[in-house]
Amino acid sequence: MEPYIVKVIAVDKVTHDTLKISTEKPEGYSYISGQATELAINNATWDNEKRPFTFTSLPDDNHLEFIVKTYPPHNGVTNELLKLIPNDELIIHDSWGAITYKGPGLFIAGGAGVTPFVSIFRQLAKENMLSGNRLIFANKKKEDIILEKELKNYLGAEMINILSDESLTGYRHGFITQQILREMLPHYNENLYVCGPPPMVDAVMQSLTNLGVSDKSVTVEL
Ligand SMILES: Cc1cc2nc3c(=O)[nH]c(=O)nc-3n(C[C@H](O)[C@H](O)[C@H](O)COP(=O)(O)OP(=O)(O)OC[C@H]3O[C@@H](n4cnc5c(N)ncnc54)[C@H](O)[C@@H]3O)c2cc1C
Repeated sequence: MEPYIVKVIAVDKVTHDTLKISTEKPEGYSYISGQATELAINNATWDNEKRPFTFTSLPDDNHLEFIVKTYPPHNGVTNELLKLIPNDELIIHDSWGAITYKGPGLFIAGGAGVTPFVSIFRQLAKENMLSGNRLIFANKKKEDIILEKELKNYLGAEMINILSDESLTGYRHGFITQQILREMLPHYNENLYVCGPPPMVDAVMQSLTNLGVSDKSVTVEL
């Protein structure tokens, strides 16, 4: 597996703690919407520190895009990514990942776990194939919702936001409970896509098992 060195084109803020990083795309590089790659920063200190990140760009785009939640108090790769400027270099590897689109269904995301779904929804929007899909998106606060406007634009009322730390009109409050999943499932029981932090994924999987649908789930833990 060859590593590829790509130059950073732009770094923009998406939310208060989330970055959008656009890079060059190597000639012939390919991936499927929903897939990820191992990424490292190409400098002497960090070039061996590979971390998985998901493409939010489309396979046909002539650049690559990543949306990265950063952990500034923690001296890790995401904190270093905050220092990136155009022309800095990243090292990426081949694409991989469990989440790919298998047909309309219910997407369940927590925080940065929405990234594989961003590329999938962008692809479906391009193909005018969004119908029949629904997203339940769990975050702490409204300010944490990644690409809220864009996702709402794609999905309208089929985007259900759940906030654990804030009560706001138009947003459900709390966590993704079995009760909420039961409400959402009857019309969307063909395909389930689950991606988020391990505690959220575990809780959702348990609820799905209780509801008798876990074997149809596709899960990636962040
Ligand atoms: C297949 C896959 C795809 C992914 N895609 C994305 C993506 O598209 N976007 C994205 O944002 N993330 C994504 N992730 C998660 C991402 O890989 C991690 O957030 C990243 O590796 C963290 O690297 P780090 O060096 O900053 O932290 P590490 O040193 O690797 O620490 C790992 C984790 O520990 C926690 N942690 C440790 N110490 C602290 C601290 N002091 N404060 C806060 N948290 C702490 C954080 O949750 C952190 O994620 C993906 C993960 C997987 C498995």
